[in-house]
Amino acid sequence: MTTLVIAEHDNAEIKASTLHALTAARQIGEPVHVLVAGHQASQVAAAAAKLNGVEKILHADAEYLAAGLAENVEPTVTALATAYSHLVFPATAFGKNVAPRVAAKLGVGQISDVTAVVSEDTFERPIYAGNAIATVQSLDSVKVLTVRLAAFPADGNSGGSATVEQVSAAGDKGLSSLVSRELTQLERPELTAAKVIVSGGRGLGSGEQYKAILEPLADKLQAALGASRAAVDAGYVPNDYQVGQTGKIVAPDVYIAVGISGAIQHLAGMKDSKTIIAINKDVEAPIFAVADVGLVGDLFEAVPQLVEKLGA
Ligand code: FAD
Repeated sequence: MTTLVIAEHDNAEIKASTLHALTAARQIGEPVHVLVAGHQASQVAAAAAKLNGVEKILHADAEYLAAGLAENVEPTVTALATAYSHLVFPATAFGKNVAPRVAAKLGVGQISDVTAVVSEDTFERPIYAGNAIATVQSLDSVKVLTVRLAAFPADGNSGGSATVEQVSAAGDKGLSSLVSRELTQLERPELTAAKVIVSGGRGLGSGEQYKAILEPLADKLQAALGASRAAVDAGYVPNDYQVGQTGKIVAPDVYIAVGISGAIQHLAGMKDSKTIIAINKDVEAPIFAVADVGLVGDLFEAVPQLVEKLGA
């Protein structure tokens, strides 16, 4: 029984998502191998070789693997799959793009969004927007999993000394090409990696008010900014701020929900946060059912007061 983790990287650095996936893989069982499919990514392979608990790095190099396009990564993964009992992907845009193709080509089921490893063939995953946890057993010979980052801590320790083996890339499918990539320049921590998140909802009333009320608080706390879907749909903030079932899944140390009612689709994305603080003028708002600390009041008064109390 050997597990293969499919590394997410940009040909220069290994992404933190890979470290979370590695933790899940090690809980399934060892040995664990890591596939680095990319172009001129030998420094990624070398960095991966130092990770804790990795026995071997498989390094596939080809120009058409440079962009991590699912159509080209899949055949390389599929060609290696028969040697493995488990293929583990991070449940990120990259993993969620490649894994279903691999599972379909192998004719096996995919177990998505794994949050706990019960045994080598049994896993937990949330269903109904996180309101129930399904325990899923797979009898497939190769188990294809995507794992939730928030459920498995990243192990960035570098005590390992894995061997690096060159493997063939499986050929250019020619089905897709990368036209351009626009990277968001963030002045704040990235939402899924932040320790503190200040998140705003429809209660803020406008994009200007979102900025005026929440940015000073986020600045004080060195927090990332998030939002409900209603705030995104109303154009207060861009799409990538959205937390929830159809947005980002986050589990920071502190999540401050301001003017957010707490619909189940929003809770699905943040209820695993360690401490939840809610500010809402409606005492009946469902957010208070999951909040550790709740303040019933007008956010336009409460948040500036909080900022003032936090001092310089
Ligand atoms: P509202 O529900 O309108 O709540 C606004 C809150 O602000 C209220 O509780 C009100 O009391 C409070 N408020 C107003 N003024 C003030 C004030 N001055 N001071 C203090 N409090 C005030 N939603 C998500 O967030 N993320 C998702 O990923 C998501 N995915 C979805 C997927 C599907 C398939 C569907 C159907 C819905 C999804 N939704 C999602 C939408 C979700 O159902 C809710 O509509 C949304 O979360 C509501 O956002 P909100 O809490 O900002 O707005």
